[in-house]
Amino acid sequence: MEHEDVIIGLEIHCQLNTKSKLFCGCSTDFRDDEPNTHTCPVCLGLPGSMPVVNKKVIEFAMRVAKALNCTVLKECDFSRKNYFYPDLNKAYQITQYDRPLAEWGKLMIEGEDGERDIRITRIHVEEDPGRSVHMGTTDRGKYTLIDYNRAGIPLIEIVTEPDLRSPKEARRFLNKLRATLEYLNVFDSEKEGSLRVDANISLKGSGRVEVKNISSYKGVEKALTFEITRQRNVIRRGQVVARETRHFLEARGVTTSSRSKEEENDYRYFPEPDLMPMQVSDWVDGIKLPELPDARRERFMQQYGCSLEHARTLTGGLKLAEFYEGVAKTDAGLAATWTADYLLGELNYRDFSIDVMPPAHFIDLITLLKSDTITDKSGVEILRTILDQIKAGEKPEMPTKIVARLGLAKTGGDEISTMVREVIAENPQPVADYHAGKGPALNFLVGQVMKKCRGRADPGHLNVLLREELDKLQGVE
Ligand SMILES: [Zn+2]
Repeated sequence: MEHEDVIIGLEIHCQLNTKSKLFCGCSTDFRDDEPNTHTCPVCLGLPGSMPVVNKKVIEFAMRVAKALNCTVLKECDFSRKNYFYPDLNKAYQITQYDRPLAEWGKLMIEGEDGERDIRITRIHVEEDPGRSVHMGTTDRGKYTLIDYNRAGIPLIEIVTEPDLRSPKEARRFLNKLRATLEYLNVFDSEKEGSLRVDANISLKGSGRVEVKNISSYKGVEKALTFEITRQRNVIRRGQVVARETRHFLEARGVTTSSRSKEEENDYRYFPEPDLMPMQVSDWVDGIKLPELPDARRERFMQQYGCSLEHARTLTGGLKLAEFYEGVAKTDAGLAATWTADYLLGELNYRDFSIDVMPPAHFIDLITLLKSDTITDKSGVEILRTILDQIKAGEKPEMPTKIVARLGLAKTGGDEISTMVREVIAENPQPVADYHAGKGPALNFLVGQVMKKCRGRADPGHLNVLLREELDKLQGVE
């Protein structure tokens, strides 16, 4: 997609995985529990209740601020953002407004034209509202129920400058951000709704459109791609792109204008009277960061000899990086190729995460490849067998066992020599063609031997063997 004139900025809400909520002691782990069982007067906003800041939330947010190279403000405070919405029974949300936790950072991404920094405008802390549960469809439901288990869950909002130039860059930014948050151990990307995105998008010299509430990584790229095409078409027809808020309908892959007036909130902010300003900048020096994706990528290249491409892929998620380090000891190069190029593809195809692959099985596979017991083709077959067994809820077999059961060991020695001679005897015309100097005839003969041994021979080795045998024949004539 053309990108010279595309301007994209993101606002990302990330759920911090602390044990308790932002302003009370209620547990944040309510996944399988009944609605409204993780609530108290504070997160319900009952009269007379007093919020107390969860120190862990501020620490987590500061880890993020530091990792994104932000400046933590000397003093930050909380405000009330006043608006009426059914899932916000106190009619205000506690958030940071004038003085957020941190400002002016950056995150490096692999851009359309090489690596570059995307600037971070600010990071602030806020509470999540509750959740509306529509009984029936949104427009035709009889009634709506409210679940406050989510009310008060700690969020950070990360706002970028409009530095992104394409939907693909936006997706890369989000992937890098997710990896960074995972490495910091402040975020669980597998939790539903753990990351929500609003995107600002415009074409140079044209009106700015805000697309609200995109809740998946793929959705961001889809929504932006749709929006760019829509805006280009508006301009092509000689019309003006209206400055507006739109919603992304994930199922249909389109954005639609928010027609109703009630969507255009007129927020009123004022300082939260129940919370004192916080002096936070002194904490920053005490916060120790773990190894982050960029540093780990460099180390993978140094320590394991990974290519830049492999190192980038393998450090793209904490669990993936740890999986690789666990299996690299067999053969770092083979393990990198087989994790990044083969395993990830097979996992994606089945919608699996890296957790499902038992490292012991993978190590066994790499060992078989390293000892030249199996061909790459058989290696892929073994990988698929294991993942299919897992998908079927069965206990996966060890690769060594699969090799024995399916007879996948590379053929060699006498067995293969016999097959080569058989194929030569059975195909006089291609043999004559080869002797007449027609190159493709050899490929045909290699193919015939491969067929005979069901792919268990190494094509390169076969090439040499066939050539030797054919040249011998010609010498005799
Ligand atoms: Zn509570």
